Amino acid sequence: ESDIVIENAGYVELRGITDSFQAVLGRLRALDTSRQEFVSNVSHELKTPITSMRVLADSLLTQENVPAEIYREFMADISEEIDRESKIISDLLALVKLDKAATEMNLDQVNINELVEGILKRLRPIAEKRNIELVLESFRPITAEVDEVKLSLAITNLVENAIKYNKDDGWVHVSLNADHKYFFVKVADSGVGIPEDAAQHIFERFYRVDKARSRETGGTGLGLAITQNVINLHHGAIKMYSRAGEGSTFMMRIPLSYIA
Ligand code: ADP
Repeated sequence: ESDIVIENAGYVELRGITDSFQAVLGRLRALDTSRQEFVSNVSHELKTPITSMRVLADSLLTQENVPAEIYREFMADISEEIDRESKIISDLLALVKLDKAATEMNLDQVNINELVEGILKRLRPIAEKRNIELVLESFRPITAEVDEVKLSLAITNLVENAIKYNKDDGWVHVSLNADHKYFFVKVADSGVGIPEDAAQHIFERFYRVDKARSRETGGTGLGLAITQNVINLHHGAIKMYSRAGEGSTFMMRIPLSYIA
């Protein structure tokens, strides 16, 4: 009898090990797939502007006596593709830096009201071009222990999106609030909104609801992934509510004191 017990125990133990081994393998595979997917997305995104530039340059080089205005037009297109490539590279570098497990946090006691006022001041000219009203509502003075540069990037991305994916003559309302533990930044817009089936994907790297629109506005699909990483580094959270065609609201929550 005792033999059987031992055998059973051994079997159960082995089963346990095999199961956890399978689970680990599964996780590794998932990690690997997402890494492979990321690398393949990166190469695709980086190649697209290069391909356009190649076509534009080739057609200029193979034509004889190109009229000056055509020449200028093609060069302007090439220049735009260069800007695009630079934006993708700088967003990627930002993302990769923030993705590192050992990302250095430069923590300071930061006046959040001033930080957000500064961001809106920088973005106001862009909003004004399309007559979009940009309003800040601060419910209380907030000081929090954050990495100012990183947090600024995260909030800037939200407000930039609220302007980019808005209608002419629309509005963007930013509000700041806090309780005893967290501060909250809410960015609401009167824009195009986000369809229900897309909502779960918008924080993924390179995901764009409307590729053409994102491209037109200089989007790379990395903005919200960067924002999410910054919020994770601060042990905060972000939520989004939207109604397609009516607008979106992004709400982030960050602890007032950094959790080491
Ligand atoms: P992008 O560089 O394309 O703006 P993001 O990562 O910032 O990339 O956003 C991903 C996608 O989510 C955008 O392409 C857009 O389709 C959608 N999106 C983000 N913010 C908004 C918003 N405020 N209103 C509508 N759609 C948005």
